[in-house]
Amino acid sequence: MKVLVIGSGGREHALTWKLKQSAAISRIFCAPGNAGTASLAENVPIAAADLTALRMFAKQNTIDLTVVGPDDPLAMGIVDLFTSLGLRIFGPTKSAARLESSKIFAKEIMRARNVPTAQARTFSDSDAALAYCQELKFPVVIKADGLALGKGVIIAENFASARSTVEMMMKEARFGEAGRRIVVEEFLRGTECSIHALVDGKKYRLLESARDHKRALDGDEGPNTGGMGAFSPANNWNEQLQAKLEEEVMKPLLAGLAKEEITYRGLLYPGLMIAPDGLRVLEFNCRFGDPETQALLPRMTSELLPLLEATIDGKIDNCKIEWDERVSVTVVLASRGYPGKSETGKVISGLEQAAKLSGVHVFHAGTKRLNNEIVTSGGRVLAVTALGKDIPAARDRAYEAAALIQFEGVHFRRDIALSATSS
Ligand code: AMP
Repeated sequence: MKVLVIGSGGREHALTWKLKQSAAISRIFCAPGNAGTASLAENVPIAAADLTALRMFAKQNTIDLTVVGPDDPLAMGIVDLFTSLGLRIFGPTKSAARLESSKIFAKEIMRARNVPTAQARTFSDSDAALAYCQELKFPVVIKADGLALGKGVIIAENFASARSTVEMMMKEARFGEAGRRIVVEEFLRGTECSIHALVDGKKYRLLESARDHKRALDGDEGPNTGGMGAFSPANNWNEQLQAKLEEEVMKPLLAGLAKEEITYRGLLYPGLMIAPDGLRVLEFNCRFGDPETQALLPRMTSELLPLLEATIDGKIDNCKIEWDERVSVTVVLASRGYPGKSETGKVISGLEQAAKLSGVHVFHAGTKRLNNEIVTSGGRVLAVTALGKDIPAARDRAYEAAALIQFEGVHFRRDIALSATSS
């Protein structure tokens, strides 16, 4: 069987690594991949958003299964395109992926089904949006409706900041069409948790819980990033919350989608805020999380391929997903400048020594091979995951591995999973 993985981040390296363990797969291609995927698969120089070239590649190479990593190709309708040509692909259709690509669509469906989420209103008029900001207590959260490279959510502490955000999104159109309409919502307090679910159209299976760290600096300071680290399981998750998630979120959401005649097949991951009075949905993601995937997959002892196949075939309830009892901690190593403009082209050393440590996996993100060396090629460069009997053991091992890896300007947070060591 031939598999194509779309994307070039740490998530895609982890997916490729996990899929590679299936004997049924004879060849894996990654488009465009990175230096890590190149050691396991055949990289193909096609961008994740070049749907035409991806479709041609899949047809010409008789790909049996395509797995989509990032959100953009899903929002552009890659699943509809591939399926219409008889190509098998893992991920939701364009219409179903609106749960992530349109915050307004997600809010509307949650409202219709009473799914707990922040109180919010949607606007296409900036004056009305600002009037509502004043009605809510500051801080307020302002979100561009569409995909904005993870930069479309701004927490405004006061009216001046709300006004400049609304102007930046709606008048200056900094995010183009994505910011023409916005959502303004109440600021929620609590702790966050990511839950991944494989949804097969009607039924679903939850994966283990995880928590990520979005801010750039220790102590949750600094700007938001794509994610500076993660750990699994989440220390703020329990069976009671899981039951709530199933009853208050998953079941009503799937019923709401069914009513709109939308069939969701693929990975659905609600980002949750856990507050003292229960849980609220912050957002829906329609693909595996990055870096949560790098923390989750090393703990998954079941094969991934049959789970993806069962999701596409509507048979996920026949599957059991088994997990390693060990916990995982993932530390992201970033380039100088990230999350702003990042340096690239720096030679990376120590990768092999780090990967030799027991229980350690080094997943590549912004890396490429140049001559005989591996060099940095993006903001987030590597995700170093370690398994351990408990969080302190996994943290020690992950940081031991991270310390072995060097490149000019490397920076990473020192407090990944630290909050979980005391609970
Ligand atoms: P989103 O893309 O909607 O998940 O937002 C990105 C991040 O912004 C979330 O992971 C939270 O850290 C934060 N966030 C979003 N909505 C809210 C909210 N209503 N209250 C507090 N924080 C929020």
